[in-house]
Amino acid sequence: MNYPFVRHRRLRQSAAIRGMVRETVLTVDDFIQPIFVTYGSGVKNEIPSMPGVFHFSLDTLEEEVKEIVDLGIPAVLLFGIPETKDAVGTSAFVDNGIVQEATRVIKKRYPDLLVVADTCLCEFTDHGHCGMVHTYERDGHVCGDVLNDESLELLVKTAVSQAKAGADIIAPSNMMDGFVQAIRTGLDEAGFTHVPIMSYSVKYASAFYGPFREAADSAPQFGDRKSYQMDPANAREALREAESDVLEGADMLMVKPALAFMDVLRMLRDQFDLPLVAYNVSGEYSMVKAAAQKGWIDERAIVTETLLGMKRAGADIIITYFAKDMARWLREKR
Ligand SMILES: [Zn+2]
Repeated sequence: MNYPFVRHRRLRQSAAIRGMVRETVLTVDDFIQPIFVTYGSGVKNEIPSMPGVFHFSLDTLEEEVKEIVDLGIPAVLLFGIPETKDAVGTSAFVDNGIVQEATRVIKKRYPDLLVVADTCLCEFTDHGHCGMVHTYERDGHVCGDVLNDESLELLVKTAVSQAKAGADIIAPSNMMDGFVQAIRTGLDEAGFTHVPIMSYSVKYASAFYGPFREAADSAPQFGDRKSYQMDPANAREALREAESDVLEGADMLMVKPALAFMDVLRMLRDQFDLPLVAYNVSGEYSMVKAAAQKGWIDERAIVTETLLGMKRAGADIIITYFAKDMARWLREKR
């Protein structure tokens, strides 16, 4: 050998050295655990397409939250499945709505656990869209347009009622134009200037949400969400979406889904200084769970590598159904 080749392996020769030079580290503080709350009592139903994820009623919720707190996970993200749905999603913004009640239950028992409230209407509307809809018939089919500005008013009411119930962070996921500004103004006027907005800034119209729609019973009854969610083919458009959210007053930006959009996470990280959130969505979870159940993959190794990838791509925070598993694995040594 007559050239001085570099010995990269010098830094890989022992676990101690690898640990010292590791660039990205997962900690339990990175994670937000999503929770589905529903009406009734004594409910703890596993979602068939999401093994290990359950629907909880308010009375069974406490045990789950205790486990999350004991594992040291700092935050939960609440999704609600209401008893009744209507055209405007009334159950989303009434004071005794399921998310509002769950927030009170959690904050009363665990005031230090951060409650992030998902602010959208699709779980609460009978048509499953994220806003108010104008419907009409064409060739015997029901069609509809989602009304942007009319929907904003309902989303503001939802966010304010969630903050009133004690939510620490408002996470609007509806992708209506102008939603961050409308909700910021609404929160400020209601006296919640201190409540940050975690905006689903870059939300793609994605097939990876399939299992969630079963979990939240929120599949659109007609049409799809492509008129307000983003085309997976576009990345520059993500920068425009994020920029408008920054200008409108968002405190944190989110990319959803995460796995197929790591480049978008990196672009946002490089372009903006706000904390960045990756949403490791239901389909990403279910694929890993299914393959692990078949014994085809090493679940722990796959999940660790995936979440590390999201953090390496620029995420400060990861919303993941694996939060409890990962918190447990981080406590063990392997
Ligand atoms: Zn929605």
